[in-house]
Amino acid sequence: MEEQQFNVTYKVYQGRNELDREDQVLLEKASIAREGAYAPYSNFKVGAAAILENGEIVVGSNQENASFPSGLCAERVAVFQAGARFPGVPIISLAISAGSDTEPSNEPAAPCGNCRQSIYEYEHKQGKPIRVILQGSQGPVYLINAISDLLPLGFNSSQLNSQ
Ligand SMILES: [Zn+2]
Repeated sequence: MEEQQFNVTYKVYQGRNELDREDQVLLEKASIAREGAYAPYSNFKVGAAAILENGEIVVGSNQENASFPSGLCAERVAVFQAGARFPGVPIISLAISAGSDTEPSNEPAAPCGNCRQSIYEYEHKQGKPIRVILQGSQGPVYLINAISDLLPLGFNSSQLNSQ
């Protein structure tokens, strides 16, 4: 038996203003996109903004549904839109802004498991890391170097091909 360990390093900034200019802009776009969320059931609004290698920025927000499984998270709205509008163009970074209208949150919200898997598909396909920038409606910012850091032992197409 051998014991293995996952080590993930990420950066914590006290606020948006400590970030590089490009990351600040991206997080601001995510924050603005959050206003477009349709979240009448959870009142938890999320905005996401992805910057692509060609400089394009694609945004998304969570879209809920009376039939709960039929809604979609902001992160997947953004990355699927990036994939549909700019097929084959790598995603460099994805910024995520999350919180309720009534109670501003200082707590960054990381992508759910489904979103981690979906974003990881693009990271694996493009062969380059997708940086993840997280912030609540205000407060500290987490910068994660790659979505695979949030999905240890992630499932990808190489497993399908190894049959
Ligand atoms: Zn999600």
